[in-house]
Amino acid sequence: MKISEHCSAADCQRPAAATLAMRALCREHFVVACYKELEGATRRLHETSFSEPSAEALRHFLEECTRQVTDIAQSADDLDNLGRARLLDIVMWASELGSRLRRGPRRQARLQILLRSEKPGRPWEEEAKTQWISRHGALVECEHTVETGEILQVIQVDTGRQAEARVVWQRRRGTGGHEIGIEFTSAINFWEMDWSTTAPDQNP
Ligand SMILES: [Zn+2]
Repeated sequence: MKISEHCSAADCQRPAAATLAMRALCREHFVVACYKELEGATRRLHETSFSEPSAEALRHFLEECTRQVTDIAQSADDLDNLGRARLLDIVMWASELGSRLRRGPRRQARLQILLRSEKPGRPWEEEAKTQWISRHGALVECEHTVETGEILQVIQVDTGRQAEARVVWQRRRGTGGHEIGIEFTSAINFWEMDWSTTAPDQNP
């Protein structure tokens, strides 16, 4: 691809190495822009307002980003180890977000669950509510502080169904408590829903 000679970032005189969203960018600014986009996308993916059009836009960005990174990695002959590591990091992150997108639709649902941490020394249990659910997990409001990677037991209050889930993401809410993204550790249809339909969000 023929791109304009100079990076379009303010006060940057370096030659352009890639384009992102129609902007010609040098390698440094391209990497910074990718990280910024990936961080924003990671946050947005867990918001209830994340919709199909956003998913489509994100898919497009991830493809573009991955393609350009691959181009740079193949054509640049002056990349040092750190430069290569950062490009690889971006590709891995993009691939992780891509697989999250492929894990399918989410539905808004306020379901009562019981979260149980069996962490040695400080076990706890809490009644919590889901914000949305997907085939593989949920976004849950939780008062306890949890760590990414922590394993929790999830019990549906209505049915007593129980499964193990891993915390894949967490954020402190401004109003207190936390939002946590959990993912079941085994491929089960924990919510017992038909995920093959693309029905609009449900609010049971
Ligand atoms: Zn630049």
